[in-house]
Amino acid sequence: MFFVLASNNPKKTAELQRILTPLGITVKTAAQLGITLEDVEETGETFRENAELKARAAMQRTGFPAIADDSGLMVAALGGRPGVYSARYAPTDEAKIQKLLGELMETGSSDRSAEFVCEICCCFPDGRTMYARGACPGTIGFAPRGNGGFGYDPIFFVEGNKTFAELSDSQKDAMSHRGRALRELKQLLIAMMKETETPNQQEE
Ligand code: IMP
Repeated sequence: MFFVLASNNPKKTAELQRILTPLGITVKTAAQLGITLEDVEETGETFRENAELKARAAMQRTGFPAIADDSGLMVAALGGRPGVYSARYAPTDEAKIQKLLGELMETGSSDRSAEFVCEICCCFPDGRTMYARGACPGTIGFAPRGNGGFGYDPIFFVEGNKTFAELSDSQKDAMSHRGRALRELKQLLIAMMKETETPNQQEE
């Protein structure tokens, strides 16, 4: 199965490819196909709406089945922010982290709980649409730790008292919101492929 990936974020793209390729799913970015994808304005109020906006635009632009994810960090003491605004919260990863730590301190709350959420949408040229969701609970640290990953990884502590940025790629994939959403997607795609098999193929 082939999908064009609607993302211009190289680290996120690498994560998606790393998880989908072992499932027998070939993914290429539009750039790898020599097609330029315009940035889609993320006007949705939910991760799912934004994922669908991106996947639909990529499908319409390329004519291939398209996959997109929208993800973000929801911090309990900040009422779920930055949420769908996680990418736009500040200009750089470092600035995002410092802004988040500052805002959290200003609340005076001792509640450091947070959740990474990822919604994936697949749009097919025949009109079918598929969604999958994954979440990963954790806590926000007081200072960045670790050099791996991207975005808010250095301040997101998961079980085992390590940040996402201190985990290997495979450790992060095993528990991350994106890994979970992609494994759900895998089950949906397997079911879809079975449904589209002819009765003869099913008997084999
Ligand atoms: P979008 O899904 O492209 O809108 O971007 C979501 C933003 O949330 C990213 O730019 C990161 O700042 C943040 N984010 C999403 N997933 C992760 C993750 O796995 N680790 C760290 N930050 C993430």
